Amino acid sequence: MARKERKASRGRLRTAQLQDARQVTLPSSADVCIIGGGAAGLTAAITAAQRGASVAVLECAPICGRTILATGNGRCNLVNTKLDPSLYNDPRFVADATGNSWLDDVRTFFFESGLVWEEESEGRCYPLSRQAASVRNVLIARARRTGALLAPARTTHKVKRDGKGFAVTFAEEWQGGEQATLRAACVVVATGGGVSSTCEGMGLISTPFEPMLCPLACEGLGLSELDGRRAQAQIALMRNGRKVTDQRGEVLFRAYGLSGIAVFNLSRFAQPGDNLVLDLLPGIDYRKALSLSEHTPDGLLDPVVAQALTNATGSVADAVSMAKNLRYSVLGATEIERAQVRRGGLQTKQFDSATLEATVTPGLFACGEALDVDGPCGGYNLAWAWKSGMVAGASAAERSRA
Ligand SMILES: Cc1cc2nc3c(=O)[nH]c(=O)nc-3n(C[C@H](O)[C@H](O)[C@H](O)COP(=O)(O)OP(=O)(O)OC[C@H]3O[C@@H](n4cnc5c(N)ncnc54)[C@H](O)[C@@H]3O)c2cc1C
Repeated sequence: MARKERKASRGRLRTAQLQDARQVTLPSSADVCIIGGGAAGLTAAITAAQRGASVAVLECAPICGRTILATGNGRCNLVNTKLDPSLYNDPRFVADATGNSWLDDVRTFFFESGLVWEEESEGRCYPLSRQAASVRNVLIARARRTGALLAPARTTHKVKRDGKGFAVTFAEEWQGGEQATLRAACVVVATGGGVSSTCEGMGLISTPFEPMLCPLACEGLGLSELDGRRAQAQIALMRNGRKVTDQRGEVLFRAYGLSGIAVFNLSRFAQPGDNLVLDLLPGIDYRKALSLSEHTPDGLLDPVVAQALTNATGSVADAVSMAKNLRYSVLGATEIERAQVRRGGLQTKQFDSATLEATVTPGLFACGEALDVDGPCGGYNLAWAWKSGMVAGASAAERSRA
């Protein structure tokens, strides 16, 4: 399809989605108002509605669950069987909030929604269909079955205390759309990892968002012929001569530096000025590698990488040595618009880790990336979104009855 035609088709789809969104009539009040209909918000909505609360979800995009569609390259790596709070930036808070049966809770939730998953390498789980749309669709269908009202194309601007509850002001996104207010006994903030001013004035402190799980711009070998080549590597992140952490996995050489899952995971810890030291022959020592590389290390490395290292160093021995100790200096995160997760958001110390309720603002809950919680690649961030959504949804329903 030509570019112009694709744009026109997207425009028609958006118009149709806005028309559908317009058909949704919101009541003047609800027990629980959920701001953001992404992964965590939909889970919270289903959980709260199942516990008997009347629920309204305000979502600024023209459809709910849109963010889920892009996950896992459209396949949605929805959880990991090796869930471990210590892999997150705030292990204690995550451990308290997720409890002892995190994986089982998520599995049961999806099973009851009509979705099963299959495990691939490194504990990564995907829907049987390998389609992120399956995950989104079962959540939307279940939210509707449970009676949660999904109201897309409504951007929340402000949450204010209103007597014992809250007044949530939002704007409708269609032409001529108006500002309106919904009253709610409880509010769940599920706005994800983007800047949101919804909670301003509620006495909550946020840490500025920073992109994580993205490529790193580096200075290093400077070999343009490596751009786009992949390798398996053991990578150490070094700061002032000391190892900060390491990762084993795929690295993708780019003209600007390094990408690939192992580098994404290191981007959570890397700072400008750090060094990345790559061993492109993990598990094979230098002598063994040299003995296997008579004319070139072709049989051990990607042939283009082998040739580039041999050309750059002028000898096979030096090429092997470089493959065991390839150094890059980190300049900073790059392609940040495609970062998979943002660190920052509502500071966790303000929330009760068992209920995800703000201690200074009773009745206000948060979940997912809106809270300052992030994990590595591999299904860990969605796992947090699902489980924290369940906790916040259940607690909000409970509180709305109090
Ligand atoms: C390209 C990409 C691929 C990824 N792949 C994976 C993966 O395979 N596995 C994994 O574990 N994680 C993955 N992630 C991370 C994962 O998608 C997020 O961690 C997860 O979606 C967070 O859930 P959330 O509900 O907190 O936020 P989101 O899913 O981002 O939902 C937040 C919602 O709130 C809405 N919103 C924001 N502000 C307002 C407002 N003021 N009013 C109303 N609505 C608002 C947004 O439109 C959005 O729908 C990926 C991320 C990206 C960007």
